[in-house]
Amino acid sequence: MNEIELENYVRSILPKLGINKLRELTRLVYEICKREKVALEEVLTASKNLQFEAAKTQLLRRRYPVNFDSAAKNRFYLPKLELSQAVSANLTPRPFYPKTVYIETSVLNSPLAARARKFFPHAQFKETDGKTHVGSSDFSKRTETLLIHREKYDFLKPCPCSCGSAGCGYNLVNLGFGCRFECEYCFLQQYQNLHAILLPANLEDFLTQIEQGSFRKGPFVRPRIGSGEFTDSLVFDDLTQYSRQIVPFFQRHPELDFEFKTKSVNIEGVLQAGGCENVVVSWSVNADKITREVEHFTPDLTSRLAAACEVARAGYRLGFHFDPVVIYEGYQADYAHTVEQMADTLPKDKIAWISVGTLRFSRELKKQIETRFQQNFILDGEFLLDFDGKMRYGERQRLEAYRFLIPLLRKTFPKAIVYLCMEDPKIAKQF
Ligand code: SF4
Repeated sequence: MNEIELENYVRSILPKLGINKLRELTRLVYEICKREKVALEEVLTASKNLQFEAAKTQLLRRRYPVNFDSAAKNRFYLPKLELSQAVSANLTPRPFYPKTVYIETSVLNSPLAARARKFFPHAQFKETDGKTHVGSSDFSKRTETLLIHREKYDFLKPCPCSCGSAGCGYNLVNLGFGCRFECEYCFLQQYQNLHAILLPANLEDFLTQIEQGSFRKGPFVRPRIGSGEFTDSLVFDDLTQYSRQIVPFFQRHPELDFEFKTKSVNIEGVLQAGGCENVVVSWSVNADKITREVEHFTPDLTSRLAAACEVARAGYRLGFHFDPVVIYEGYQADYAHTVEQMADTLPKDKIAWISVGTLRFSRELKKQIETRFQQNFILDGEFLLDFDGKMRYGERQRLEAYRFLIPLLRKTFPKAIVYLCMEDPKIAKQF
């Protein structure tokens, strides 16, 4: 079913609609059919004297049963449906093996470039001045191109959080751009405009900037610096070997905490680096259903927890991120099961922090998810435009999720700091 068929159907019921009204009803009919797995005819039927306003109200009520009565009507986002242009994500499992490796002239002889030659002997290697455009026009083909470059400007910054959200005082170091996992909710699919994997070869310049930097620390004991914003911190670590430089650096800087944030089990470098109390290796964790059906190519929860136990034994502290929490029928039992698995497996006194955040996304990302993952179920939730222009579950559903998960985590892991990520300050202050 594409938008042309849907529009034609809506037009057959309400023939005089203008373009905007047609767009809104088409979207609502589409989302209801997808969410309820029913045919068009079961969603909108011809009836005598049916007008646009009545049809829209009836459809909104059905699409947003939890929020329809309480949410302001301008919080329902009904953009044009554009499925026929869709380029689906490539979900065929494959190893990370770029076809082309570009190396900037100034880092041609770097250890990272040498390792890339060894790792990918059949790739085509090209020298670049850093100004030529590289990468594919298709985000799904980003792993076909690797760019090893010298970072010149973007070393360190405070986490931008989300406009108006309650921040946690995090600091970011951008060690790489792009990821080989394929999480359906990943913001990179909308944000990344250079469709390649970028890895800087000059880690030492980042470390110098950290040495000279001043940092905020939010409610934490020490300032926290992390590398997992535009990539997974460890997914390429066997190639980059960043951890082997980062850990000794932070052993010399006990006044700072460094966080590797990952879904991978690529921990060899971290283990070899020998452990460090102020380095936290953290995993995103989720309900098993989300890991299996939404976080494509990522290791399952059991493997992530086994890796966490290994790094804890090696002398690191652990972090966990329940992010994004996805609300669906029965989600609480599934998340409780994840907490139970963690409690059964992990050394509790090694857990430094646990963050929690419900699924949120920009308007643009919604359309990307919708077209790249047409069978997704994560968008079937009731998302409303929120205080910062992003889309979130309504307040009632978010509060329900937090009132369930946060006390459970605090009770299970009493020594860990449990905090909310990117939330409305009005909600955050309740926890
Ligand atoms: S692991 Fe993180 S960066 Fe990688 S695809 Fe998933 S959400 Fe994106």
